[in-house]
Amino acid sequence: MRPRDFPHWLRDTMLRMFPHRAPTGLVRIGNPGRESPVLVTGNFTLTIRRLIDALRGHDVWLLCANSKGINVWCAAGGGHLTHHDVISVVRISRIGELVDHRELVLPQLCATGVERRKIAEITGWSARWGPARLEDLPGFLRRRRHLVKGERFVRFPLWERMEMSFMWSWALIAVAVLGAWGIGSWALALCALAVILGIVGGIFAALPWLIVTGPKRWLTFGAFAVVGFGVGVGVLAALGSATSAHLWLAAGTAVVATGVLSVDLAGTTPWYGSYINRFHNPALVDLVETRCTGAAECVQVCPRDVLEMNGHRRKVEIKRPDQCIQCGACIVQCPEDALRFRYDDGRVVEAATIRRTRMNMVGQRTVELPEP
Ligand code: SF4
Repeated sequence: MRPRDFPHWLRDTMLRMFPHRAPTGLVRIGNPGRESPVLVTGNFTLTIRRLIDALRGHDVWLLCANSKGINVWCAAGGGHLTHHDVISVVRISRIGELVDHRELVLPQLCATGVERRKIAEITGWSARWGPARLEDLPGFLRRRRHLVKGERFVRFPLWERMEMSFMWSWALIAVAVLGAWGIGSWALALCALAVILGIVGGIFAALPWLIVTGPKRWLTFGAFAVVGFGVGVGVLAALGSATSAHLWLAAGTAVVATGVLSVDLAGTTPWYGSYINRFHNPALVDLVETRCTGAAECVQVCPRDVLEMNGHRRKVEIKRPDQCIQCGACIVQCPEDALRFRYDDGRVVEAATIRRTRMNMVGQRTVELPEP
């Protein structure tokens, strides 16, 4: 990131929970020509800024489809970014007059809502899947648009978790610190800062090892509230300023910060189980083997390495069902409708319903089904 971009990064990161629309249409990166790749993304400001940063030194055309100002994964899962939006930007931008090829590179995470085959059928443009993360795009382009296996999977590294913790905590910190300052206590302001950073930073740092579903969730979050309170009281003690009123306020801050954070982490960390996900959509991905022809489109779009192609049997297999986050991408992309969701009681949700309703962990979580 260039230093002059820092204020924009700060604003976009602070507000990343909310839609933030960039203009749709065509963006030139570098000096693209008639053979340059054509990449597709949504019109979420933060994504476009990061893409331009990541692709510095490359010559590409970037098509920004209308994702309603939401990031690609959430927009596609929620039904706000579909193949119609991609087809629309291909036509309106008149990219076909600027290049000699007819190939789009789609972000893999839009597979929950953008049907690749429909784009080819309607426009004549073929579409291939790019990496799940934009950081992997330069390598993908250097390898002449060849994807390596690890680039298909979603990762959530520490620095991104810290960025998320900043997104969650800045408003809380602002309220708590301004409140403490308003009642005239810098010691209390520092204490509130320490409490919130202790809780939010700690939870996000430890997220891959945390249990955030079921009854144990409250114990887990309670433990972090105690840690945050301890950190805040430690600050007060170091400043020699721990009255009983201060202790009550520090405890209150710990409870509020923990409560806000534990409402649901699903939107922030869709690849970890969440309260909403566990209780509102207990369906599991299910394979009808007789329909599977081994096209393996599902394997290409699964961000969690759940599915594998068995070359001998020429069939896909569900290898790691416990890793499935019910994004529905495999179901939407399967040309044979061989995948679907199945509930414990035997009811199934077929692919056509999932395509129509966006029943997945980001979009609609339940649909009315007939009894089995
Ligand atoms: S197997 Fe699960 S995680 Fe993988 S694409 Fe299908 S629904 Fe998504």
